[in-house]
Amino acid sequence: EGIVIAIDGPSGSGKSSTAKGVARVRELRYLDTGAMYRAMTWWMIEHQVDVDDAAAVADAASRPVITMGTDPNAPTVQVDGSDVARAIRGQAVTENVSAVSAVPAVRSLLVRQQRDIIASACAETAGIVVEGRDITTVVAPDAAVKVYLTASAEARAQRRSSEVSATDVAATQADLARRDLLDSSRAASPLTQTPDAMELDSTGLGLKEVVALVVKLVDD
Ligand code: C5P
Repeated sequence: EGIVIAIDGPSGSGKSSTAKGVARVRELRYLDTGAMYRAMTWWMIEHQVDVDDAAAVADAASRPVITMGTDPNAPTVQVDGSDVARAIRGQAVTENVSAVSAVPAVRSLLVRQQRDIIASACAETAGIVVEGRDITTVVAPDAAVKVYLTASAEARAQRRSSEVSATDVAATQADLARRDLLDSSRAASPLTQTPDAMELDSTGLGLKEVVALVVKLVDD
């Protein structure tokens, strides 16, 4: 039976790099659940579903076929057989993903799929590192290791700006603040910190140090 490592936190906290790093070091699978919400959002935009119409989003939610590749060295995300890895990082998806993620029908569908991916990884491999907003609370509350990753607003904006090669750090910080507010104030599975997750503040730490700290939690 494989191990599950759950990592939650706001955007720009270093979740993806940390989760991938831990998966590589421990030879585990890797799942980016944010990419699944982004893939769902990409499909809605592509099919001209009004993302602010929750009933329309709920109606359409079961139509896209989202397929995740869980190799931490080459994670993939496909919608209806097409590679959308690049497209889901675009501005249109980033602006609308919080609205789509707030729809309960979207969440129940994707949470079920995430649990299936986790179950297969645990049955067939040494386990999986899963990152998102509700992994420690909803998707895998029984995970062996639960981490809540944080960083200062400035550090998160710096990181995200260099990832998307945006030069306007202030604009990136404003976008992150907007998404944080939407993600933490929604009714369905808001981003919350559970007392049983280990809080790790990555401000001022390098990726290697953060990965080493999480790996140490796994070993302890
Ligand atoms: O992690 P990332 O920034 O790519 O996530 C994009 C969006 O997906 C978040 O802003 C949030 O609205 C949503 N999300 C979520 N639950 C998760 C992962 C992501 O609601 N487990």
